[in-house]
Amino acid sequence: MRTIYLDNNATTVMDADVLSAMLPYFTEEYGNASSVLNAYGRHAEEAVNVAVDVLKDIFHASSSRDFTFTSGATEANNLAISGIVQSYQKMRPHIITSGIEHQSVLQVCRFWEMQGAQCTYLEVNSSGIVDLQQLREEIRDNTVLISVMAANNEIGTIQPIAEIGELAHRNHILFHTDATQYMYYKIINVREMPIDMLSFSAHKIHGPKGVGVLYANREARRRLCPILFGGNQQWGIRSGTLNVPGIVGISKAIEILSESQCKSNERIKKLRNQLYELLCNNHLVYVNGDLEQRLPNNLNVRFPTVKSVALISKLPELAVSVASACLSGVSSSSHVLKALHLSEDEIHSSVRFGLSKYTTEEDIIHTVNMFHKAIKDIELK
Ligand code: PMP
Repeated sequence: MRTIYLDNNATTVMDADVLSAMLPYFTEEYGNASSVLNAYGRHAEEAVNVAVDVLKDIFHASSSRDFTFTSGATEANNLAISGIVQSYQKMRPHIITSGIEHQSVLQVCRFWEMQGAQCTYLEVNSSGIVDLQQLREEIRDNTVLISVMAANNEIGTIQPIAEIGELAHRNHILFHTDATQYMYYKIINVREMPIDMLSFSAHKIHGPKGVGVLYANREARRRLCPILFGGNQQWGIRSGTLNVPGIVGISKAIEILSESQCKSNERIKKLRNQLYELLCNNHLVYVNGDLEQRLPNNLNVRFPTVKSVALISKLPELAVSVASACLSGVSSSSHVLKALHLSEDEIHSSVRFGLSKYTTEEDIIHTVNMFHKAIKDIELK
């Protein structure tokens, strides 16, 4: 059975060149990058240094210390928020975020609220974009951090992070952005963007699972408290033996991305638009979130006449999803679609498609045909 993978907002296949770059660090070069008295350790340390230099160049960062390797974007988001809030804990700090963030931001904010911090969750308009006017009005004297994602993982909407960052800086507030989904579309030039901290994950960009990065500039690092304690690796910001193969992998994935994303964005967007148009030709379809201010690889639509779970269960040869992968198996419905003021029925008739540079026109046509048949089957019953 030929399967079509259109769940690339959940995770992506690893590039063969990423795997090749990583393999030696599992087998011959298995040294501990902090154990530099022997050659194994020194080789591992060298590999990490090379990986950091690649990131530093591509992101236009000012120091290699700006990059902290983590176990993924969940940990990077936890570190960014908890790390800053902890350092201001005595003054009852205020954080501003949005209501459509990933749970690895929202749950951390809820945790700090229970410890006495204040938190504002910005609303989004019907297009899924945060309201800058509300942001301006919510800034308080004790606001220490604004954390707004660069792009959403369910509906792909792109947030005005340049404007948000400028507003933050004008008010002497640190700005963090979760760029986990945005990265596939664009690598952020941190010299040109008013961003203090940025999280991302390798497995969303054809890299390995279990490795991510928190970029934090000097201003942010001055305030950042660690959330993991141990051997003081990575200047004490994140203790734990370095995941050398993972670090080599994330750096290789970024390198490949930086060379290919311009070209692949165009192709992916064309295929995504084709998918949308072909679905619309056959059925009543509504888009969730803005279609223009959206990641080229994302489409989130609702089919008013069917329930998405029933629909997807009729399509075993197709990998798509109903909301974010992190919600799968959880009965609660998507907080992102709720934030768009969709009804429960509308939420439960929504499907997320995530394309990648490996998606072909044949995949799109085949997907539309399968959807057409499955929807007709359900409607006939
Ligand atoms: N933020 C966003 C926007 C995401 O899409 C995800 C993954 N679904 C994460 C954070 C968490 O990333 P990881 O799987 O690397 O922990």
